[in-house]
Amino acid sequence: MRPQILYPLFAPVTSLPGIGPRLGKLFEKLTGPNVSGLLWHLPTGLLDRQQEPPIDTVLDGATVTLKVQVTIHLPPLRPRQPYRVSCVNDTGAVDLVFFNPRVDYIQNLLPPGEWRIVSGRVERYAGTLNMVHPDYILPPERIAEIKRLEPTYGLTAGLTPRLVLKAVAAAIDRAPDMPEWIDAHVMKRHQWPKWKAAVEAVHRPAGATDLEPGTVARQRLAYDELLASQVALALVRQHNRRLAGRPCVATGALTSRVKARLPYDLTASQRLAIEEIANDMASPQRMLRLLQGDVGSGKTVVALFAMLIAAEAGGQAALLAPTDLLARQHFATLEPLLRAAGLELRLLTGRDKGKTRDKILADLASGETKLVVGTHALVQESIVFDDLRLAVVDEQHRFGVQQRVALSEKGKGVDLLVMTATPIPRTLTLTAYGDIDVSRLTEKPPGRQPIDTRIIPLDRLNEVAEGLRRATAQGSRVYWVCPLVDESELIDLAAATERHEMLRMLFGDRVGLVHGQQKAADRDKTMAQFQEGSIDILVATTVIEVGVDVPQATVMVIEHAERFGLAQLHQLRGRVGRGSAKSSCLLLYQTPLSETAKARLNIMRETEDGFRIAEEDLRLRGAGELLGTRQSGLPEFHLADLVAHADLIQIARDDARLVLEKDPELVSERGLALRILLYLFEKDAVVKTIRSG
Ligand code: ADP
Ligand code: MG
Repeated sequence: MRPQILYPLFAPVTSLPGIGPRLGKLFEKLTGPNVSGLLWHLPTGLLDRQQEPPIDTVLDGATVTLKVQVTIHLPPLRPRQPYRVSCVNDTGAVDLVFFNPRVDYIQNLLPPGEWRIVSGRVERYAGTLNMVHPDYILPPERIAEIKRLEPTYGLTAGLTPRLVLKAVAAAIDRAPDMPEWIDAHVMKRHQWPKWKAAVEAVHRPAGATDLEPGTVARQRLAYDELLASQVALALVRQHNRRLAGRPCVATGALTSRVKARLPYDLTASQRLAIEEIANDMASPQRMLRLLQGDVGSGKTVVALFAMLIAAEAGGQAALLAPTDLLARQHFATLEPLLRAAGLELRLLTGRDKGKTRDKILADLASGETKLVVGTHALVQESIVFDDLRLAVVDEQHRFGVQQRVALSEKGKGVDLLVMTATPIPRTLTLTAYGDIDVSRLTEKPPGRQPIDTRIIPLDRLNEVAEGLRRATAQGSRVYWVCPLVDESELIDLAAATERHEMLRMLFGDRVGLVHGQQKAADRDKTMAQFQEGSIDILVATTVIEVGVDVPQATVMVIEHAERFGLAQLHQLRGRVGRGSAKSSCLLLYQTPLSETAKARLNIMRETEDGFRIAEEDLRLRGAGELLGTRQSGLPEFHLADLVAHADLIQIARDDARLVLEKDPELVSERGLALRILLYLFEKDAVVKTIRSG
């Protein structure tokens, strides 16, 4: 249960004065449904109302404070025209402009002949300087009421700066004094303010430096957020530890049979990863291991060997894939290999219905089936395993923690292996997983050729198309990825459809289209045609982003490459260069390109090392944006900036570990305060593990 002290912060935003259902919706969009979201909505700028410039020097779009004399009221002549009040001083003239005002109110406020202080944003329009709906209109003696320095906030359509400013102020009024959850030494060393003082300070900047992440107030709040996340991860780990694992001892009986039939030798890092996994599985503790390996580094076969160990120990193993397409592909690669070794692999996706599905379920429940690949369908409640020992989660960022947990709860002491191609920089692994063990595939399978990456302006599309004609004539297969235009997949789709049509005009019916709005069956059909070669060019929205393996594909075209995150570009590029033929990647960009965008695309040209790309991207854009791509599987932070506050992550991790060692149930005074912190950052589910453990 949420502690009472937090009730005011978890009240709906509509409980604040002046926010009704209509504004409530807008605020919900901007900062979330609760009052607390407003506290985390940090100012991004500072408005200087101290400027009182001569009117004739005022720039279009400036926010200024002016002392003026009212001359004349000009009511609208036609409906929908605004009501104007002309004003002057000896430096020029300005019109105050009101749409649909209450006329008596305006007339009272601005009597002709009187002097007034007005403050607001000005625009020049047809030779006149206009101030539309001034923020302040006051008699000169009350000038002190104008807040001269005002923080400005990110907005959403329909919300004005004033509304957001007022709402944040109202939220701060609700902020209670919190008991201290930060370690006293840490507080003292950094000279951090108490929580409430920090919240007030971040919203009351007195200068531009107060907007930077290094201020004590911003640091303190960032630390709160990091600490909440580290304590939460530590609690989950503590919970998992308590549910003892079971040793799975490899006999080598099955792995040796499969190894003999592999068409290639394992790379050294694959062998090392398998060994690390085997050791974890043999130990009585539950395995929690992350297998990190660039696209094409060969994670699937590592997963296979882990699954075989579970089977050798007499148990079952499941491989969970994020999409139907990937589940099928894993099945297609692994099944023949296993069959040759006399083993059976089953496939379960949402498309299996009726009798087929019943049979698979029955075989999983009886233990007849040892090895299974599938999608979310595997996590459903109706799925029962006889003795699940190992769960492998592929491309784990596509799944929530709940799904991971749900799968591992289908057995006793299930070992967990999560796999990701996202090259998360080292500093960030901690924030995503806490103390997870990590295996890395650092080398690619031999025989891969470097990919020739080129950066080309979009207006040379015709040349690119000509190049494709030559390439396809020589038997190349081409991916053509269309950009992320908008949040909305429908708009992406329009762009992809248009490109598909254009390419069809050029290349006829050997051009296919796949996207997320298609029926899975249609998409699979087109993918299969591309795989077998009856289609040469596959136009796609980013659905092909993960895991697809078509070794014959040698050209990757990415339109509007400047709109993608580097990690995502890297993933996409990894779809080619899988066979022995020379591959190329064409990054098409819209001109003009900013310096940062140019630098980012150049990194793609310079290196194929996913870790380097991720580090550079982090450096160039800051963690916020890297995370913003939602590619990383990392939690999103409101207050912590994972670049600027990187050193705080480690402190929070150590602190979390220490406090749980001393007080695993969080019942001491500080422990209770930490519970409040966890609820404050909505880690409710994690708090529940404390007692149930
Ligand atoms: P990812 O890590 O992206 O999931 P995959 O497991 O799909 O990579 O492997 C990519 C390709 O590399 C597959 O075609 C696979 O058969 C092949 N492969 C994996 N390991 C090796 C190896 N040691 N030598 C040669 N090819 C390999
Ligand atoms: Mg894969």
